[in-house]
Amino acid sequence: MCSGFDAGLYRLMTKTWGHEASQKRVLFDDHSAEQISHTRGQTLVLLLPLILAAWPFDSHSLQNAELPPQPQPQAAKVKLKKIRVAVDAGHGYADNTGNIGGHCQREMDHTLVVADFLADALEKTGRFEVMRSRVGNALPRYQTRIAAIEKWKADVVISIHSDARGLATPVEQGDGGVCWQNPDEPGFSVLWNDEGPSFPARQKLGRAVGSRLRDAGFVEYSGVNYADLYTQDPVEPSGWIDKRPLKKRVYFLRASKIPTVIIETHHALDVTEVARWDEPKTFDAFSAAVAAAILDFAQPAK
Ligand SMILES: [Zn+2]
Repeated sequence: MCSGFDAGLYRLMTKTWGHEASQKRVLFDDHSAEQISHTRGQTLVLLLPLILAAWPFDSHSLQNAELPPQPQPQAAKVKLKKIRVAVDAGHGYADNTGNIGGHCQREMDHTLVVADFLADALEKTGRFEVMRSRVGNALPRYQTRIAAIEKWKADVVISIHSDARGLATPVEQGDGGVCWQNPDEPGFSVLWNDEGPSFPARQKLGRAVGSRLRDAGFVEYSGVNYADLYTQDPVEPSGWIDKRPLKKRVYFLRASKIPTVIIETHHALDVTEVARWDEPKTFDAFSAAVAAAILDFAQPAK
């Protein structure tokens, strides 16, 4: 067997000579080569001071060679803060069904279908947390909804409605029933309230929603029958601001400091618009536009 001296020398050579030293280790396993290595070892001891003096020591590379494996840098984990959106299906408490449309459909049923679709679509993006203020057959009061929305700490509130505008005429439905229709005032609108310090945030949200819906191809309401109720926003043509005496204003728009808008999706007495709201594409376009608008709203001012 090799002497302990040779084994120690071998370890030194491994550190300094690398590959060549490891080749020598193979020879150690060959008994016939042991003596050769031993002889070389004695020679090296004699020459070692000269070798060390002449060796171009790179202490840095030696240090690196002896370091344990370093942990690999990992990609930084980015956690996106989700925007908390309360989606309200307008009406649907006590006997408040909302308007009765051109096919005698109830507003509270339309708003629930649209609100549920919008809530699902927002959640699917991964960018939003969504709260639904009215679910299934539940009929919560508006005060109850607002309290729940504030407790949940929503960032924005989107309330879904439809309008019944102007002078309507009765139209027989073929089953003996009559529904009232008016084809003259189509279009969507966005409503908000100008009271108090929440006004700028409501305005920013309302303008973003109106703008994105128009960009998506929805046509804004002319406002011909809003004149006594609302003031048209000077920037966003689909935006309307409640201007009535405070006690007559829409409760849902003024009940919370959380930025809140109502979207009147269409004119429920206009059967052409009603048919459009039976199309899945309308729901898709509407939801994508509202999602984009909320992201616009969440962008800091430039
Ligand atoms: Zn309504």
